[in-house]
Amino acid sequence: MAMMRSVLRNALRFCLQQQQQHEGFRGFNFVASSRDLESSRTCLKNWFGAAGTSWRQQRNFSVRRLYDHLHRAPNVPARAGRDEIRGLAELAASRSTHAASRGQAHWTQLPRSMMHGMLWCGNERVSYLLAAVAATGFLGGAGLFVVLADAGQREEQGTSRPAAAASGEVEEVVRSSVGTGPGRKKKVVVLGTGWAGTSFLKNLDSSLYDVIVVAPRNCFVFTPLLPSVASGVVEARSVTQPIRRIIRKRNIEFYQSECVRIDAKSKQILCNDVSERKWQGKDVEFTLDYDLLVVAVGATNNTFGTKGVQEYCHFLKEIEDAEKIRESVVERFETASLPNFSSEDRSKLLHFVVVGGGPTGVEYAAELHDLIHDDLCRLYPHLKQDVTITVVQSGDHILNSFDRRISEYAEKKFSRDGVDVKRGWRVSEITDENVCLKLKKTGELVQLPYGMVVWSTGIATRPVVADLMAQIGQADRKVLATDAWLHVHNCEGVYALGDCASVVDSQLKSMPATAQVAAQQGAYLARCFNKLAQEYTTNIKPEDHHHQLDPFFYRHLGQFAPLGGEIAAAEIPGDWVSIGHSTQWLWYSVYASMQVSWRTRVLVVFDWAKKFIFGRDSSSM
Ligand code: FAD
Ligand code: MG
Repeated sequence: MAMMRSVLRNALRFCLQQQQQHEGFRGFNFVASSRDLESSRTCLKNWFGAAGTSWRQQRNFSVRRLYDHLHRAPNVPARAGRDEIRGLAELAASRSTHAASRGQAHWTQLPRSMMHGMLWCGNERVSYLLAAVAATGFLGGAGLFVVLADAGQREEQGTSRPAAAASGEVEEVVRSSVGTGPGRKKKVVVLGTGWAGTSFLKNLDSSLYDVIVVAPRNCFVFTPLLPSVASGVVEARSVTQPIRRIIRKRNIEFYQSECVRIDAKSKQILCNDVSERKWQGKDVEFTLDYDLLVVAVGATNNTFGTKGVQEYCHFLKEIEDAEKIRESVVERFETASLPNFSSEDRSKLLHFVVVGGGPTGVEYAAELHDLIHDDLCRLYPHLKQDVTITVVQSGDHILNSFDRRISEYAEKKFSRDGVDVKRGWRVSEITDENVCLKLKKTGELVQLPYGMVVWSTGIATRPVVADLMAQIGQADRKVLATDAWLHVHNCEGVYALGDCASVVDSQLKSMPATAQVAAQQGAYLARCFNKLAQEYTTNIKPEDHHHQLDPFFYRHLGQFAPLGGEIAAAEIPGDWVSIGHSTQWLWYSVYASMQVSWRTRVLVVFDWAKKFIFGRDSSSM
């Protein structure tokens, strides 16, 4: 046993070194600790310390904390025994799963962002064996967080208190006391089922609050794959996950409706039914009260007030948009194949314009190029010479948020592929036949006849958010300003995250409007909420909570830009740039692993495989 321990200790040290050397390393993490709580605690402390997270921040996950808590709670014997510790250890890890199964070995997950799990095992030998397995990364290299806490020894030594409460009771005590003090649980209303909202829900311990989710869309959409949906590589269903699957068996309600107004003073929101068929011919309206409101409604498309955009352009933001774009491309090819069209008409019909040279616009242009050249040109060979793709970018370069090497490469690749990139041009108007462009430098005007335009130039404020900002004196802003704890300035009980918010602090650093930021904020806020609910019991006033919690810290893990032709570019922190086929494979594996469920993961991988074997689908439906 001693030898095994030393092997484990060395393995742990190795993991910690790895963790420190590679930011974002998600290898195997584990804490193994034997028999007594004190050493469990030290072990946890060392681990969190080395992983760069403060012990203070994480202590609510520690067995020790719950152990302490138990001692302070009324009606509980002075010392905890094996059963309580087991109950508490389980609770510490599975605070969202109500009915934790009590097997020999018990496995649940802590918030996903931490990528830890917990393993409880009654038998010490089996525990060590499992820890060793975890240490070798055998279980898929997923981060494992193994706590083996066993108070059995103390009990055996006769230091234990009389009559151990059954672990069910313990759970009850802890649960009732971690609510929001005496009385009812706080009511949390979450607006949005996008990246931020979903990540918040997945990480929240819903047993601590009464949670209601409101969103006009009853599913989560994996937005980074929308360009692939728009080009027919991936099916729409493969990138969506019903929100009811995510909240199933948890104390969370979902209402499919749109929040139309947030009343910050009376702490109420007004919601409107979004169903197509109105109940008795009318909208169903209702109000909800909240104690804590999580605003994660994302943003809308920014048209910069350009005339004709709403009428004639496609957006690429929602799943329906992507499906419409796919249909419309195929439809243009069918129309252009009809008799009586001149070559001029055909080239007009088959002129595809993408406005916006950011990551989404570029990715879609690349996917569109592949769709046309790999698949449609084979099926419509007579139209090959009539097709053009144009990307309009108002800045000097496409992909200007990326490293210069990537944007240069992308421009070269597009020019090789025959995709026309118009840099420094601004769209002044869209008519039913033409895109009107103005060269920013000289003011020169041109009109481009088009068949289809996809508009992808960034994001704008949703009306409901703009209305809230007007109420709280932020009317001059584009997104809700929050402090570093994601709490909206001048607005008690309201938190905002994702694309509709931005952290404004003394350093004035701005975070990009990406899924990565939204997901990290969601997970962070859930951890704060989990912790806050516990802090209320120790009579800390809610106002003080800032001092209890570390501020939000964004960890940038890099970004991808797929450029078509099975080539992708990636930018990884530390001035790393990688471009090529291997990066595309990296892209495949990262996006497969980022899926929210096994269902969507399998579907997406199947879709990719299907594309390689059968090509993209070109039926117009
Ligand atoms: P969203 O994910 O947009 O979710 C908003 C939610 O709020 C939705 O559920 C919506 O239905 C709901 N809602 C809207 N109005 C209301 C209302 N009035 N009341 C209640 N609920 C409401 N980011 C990356 O990091 N990497 C990428 O590769 C990437 N690719 C992208 C590709 C495309 C095509 C797009 C459009 C975006 C991409 N992004 C990417 C950006 C990323 O999708 C956003 O940053 C992210 O979705 C923001 O998350 P969010 O939760 O704030 O908003
Ligand atoms: Mg959201």
